[in-house]
Amino acid sequence: MRLKGKVILISGAGSGIGKSTSLLFAREGAIVIVNDLDDTNGRQTVKEISEFDGEATFIQADVTHVDSVKEMVEQIINQYGRIDVLFNNAGISGVGQLHEVDLDEWDKVMNVNIKGVFMLSKYVLHYMMESKSGSIINMSSCIAEIGLANRASYAASKGAVLALTKSMQVDYASYNIRINALLPGTILTPFVESYLKNSYDDPEKAIEGIKRRQLSGELGRPVDVANAALFLASDESKFMMGSPLYIDGGVVFGKDA
Ligand code: NAP
Repeated sequence: MRLKGKVILISGAGSGIGKSTSLLFAREGAIVIVNDLDDTNGRQTVKEISEFDGEATFIQADVTHVDSVKEMVEQIINQYGRIDVLFNNAGISGVGQLHEVDLDEWDKVMNVNIKGVFMLSKYVLHYMMESKSGSIINMSSCIAEIGLANRASYAASKGAVLALTKSMQVDYASYNIRINALLPGTILTPFVESYLKNSYDDPEKAIEGIKRRQLSGELGRPVDVANAALFLASDESKFMMGSPLYIDGGVVFGKDA
């Protein structure tokens, strides 16, 4: 019960890492607000939590729409009175070298991956500042630290999340609010499965290549990232401020040849 009684909002919680984190946080005693674009997936996460008597509520909202974000935050405050932890997890993939990326695609990736983090944080911070406590976890990626082929818009968005995390931490440290970033390597989720399908003629061969670039020799699992998020959400990480936390099977710091 490492999160007992904490009210925690997780964006993009109907799938992959967000879903796995929602289940883990609920098992650890949190009241989880499951946010997603997708109604069916979001409700399924809540259903699975209720099967072990965990506490969760689904709110369908698009993190890129200011009115939806404001309404969601107000609904949580009206119902629970506070938000202890915000996990800015929702994100989409962006494929292509810079000269190939069309303008709409660039805007879409930036809107979800960085503007979504900005907007959700902006409206939640107001209440965290009032209560002088909180933890915000921002989803970056190991791509913020290393060059990877064909991911120009995605890399730019995740680099921006990391820079924003550090800047936010300086501004809100005096309010007893901690802001840290997660930097996963390749984690097998629906997001990666569709990225592989759309980008490679032979997805199985692509997976073998990705396994080789991670020292682990394996792709990560959503729960690997959920466990790191649990640490950042809990008071055990109270001395972590503005930090990147790598869950990447050694891809950033390792080289085996
Ligand atoms: P996923 O399985 O696709 O889950 C992402 C969820 O976010 C989906 O349910 C998606 O809904 C939702 N979402 C997308 N746009 C949204 C919006 N505007 N408002 C609310 N929800 C929205 O992906 P994942 O692999 O778990 O990724 C989660 C996060 O980790 C992302 O930020 C991703 O960039 C990051 N990450 C992933 C990896 C990896 O290897 N998997 C590595 C590093 C970082 P729909 O299905 O309806 O679009």
